[in-house]
Amino acid sequence: VKIAKRTGKVEIYRNGVLKEAQRRFSIESRLRDALSQGGLSLAYQPLIHLQTGEITGFEALARWNDPDLGNVPPTEFIAVAEESGLITSLGRWAAYEAAQALSRWDAKYGQPLPVSVNVNVSAIQIARDDVESMFEEALRYAGIDGRRMTAELTESAIVADPDKARKWLVALKDLDMSIAMDDFGTGFSNLASLHSLPIDILKIDRSFVSSMLEDHDKMVIVRTILSLAESLNLKVTAEGIETQALALQLQNLGCWQGQGYYFARPMNEADAFDYWRARWNFETI
Ligand code: C2E
Ligand code: MG
Ligand code: MG
Ligand code: MG
Repeated sequence: VKIAKRTGKVEIYRNGVLKEAQRRFSIESRLRDALSQGGLSLAYQPLIHLQTGEITGFEALARWNDPDLGNVPPTEFIAVAEESGLITSLGRWAAYEAAQALSRWDAKYGQPLPVSVNVNVSAIQIARDDVESMFEEALRYAGIDGRRMTAELTESAIVADPDKARKWLVALKDLDMSIAMDDFGTGFSNLASLHSLPIDILKIDRSFVSSMLEDHDKMVIVRTILSLAESLNLKVTAEGIETQALALQLQNLGCWQGQGYYFARPMNEADAFDYWRARWNFETI
């Protein structure tokens, strides 16, 4: 009986690993097709100035609805893209698409919208691609001013090689772009590099923000990040704001910008435009 049980477990385990490998393989090959056939899209989530209520911009988030696989969550396909090297073309596509969305909104509105778009950049992409010329070309192709684009990167993009990071961060600043440190607090932050690199914004990770009203430790972390940012002259965006109470608390703490389901979920390009036009300003938060 014991042996049978054990073999059973091994079988289940083996099936599990096989299924996982199969799924990863089909995601990779379907993703490759999607990238060459325009099968991906970007969703845009509003970024709100917490002191004025204005919509200052949108974060562009990749979406993929595959005919066979259905909706694949970005956490899953971004990981596969990073492992397979597809992240380079995915990242290029995202930068071009985001810049062109801005120019399509401008055309619809008849003048430039006073909003910027944040594009996520993966550490693997940075290691393998020339992100400075990627952004330069994407902006030029769409005719968009660099002031309207922010690169969101994670701490891992810098930790590996801070000297190299400085070079391309300076290049992005030369394009007048802003730099945001994404998921701040979850990685191995090199605090010295926050000071010495041209970083503009810290995005406090959702895992600290969403429970800060119930969890004292989280609140302490959020306050600490806010005061660190103040002394380093950095702006702070809080992500994962799901309730009005959180929005108000962060406003009271002097946090610059907020993002979360309380304000809006990520929306397609047309809906994001309509949303902005209907309420470019939240009169009250
Ligand atoms: P991220 O860059 O930290 O993006 C924020 C994530 O939090 C998004 O998840 C967004 O939908 C979600 N979110 C925003 N507000 C709330 C809230 O109030 N509550 C909750 N529960 N979630 C909220 P999403 O779209 O699933 O993306 C997950 C991650 O995938 C992103 O995290 C980013 O790391 C990665 N990603 C997405 N698009 C791209 C891309 O184009 N390039 C790269 N390199 N990574 C991307
Ligand atoms: Mg992000
Ligand atoms: Mg984030
Ligand atoms: Mg995050």
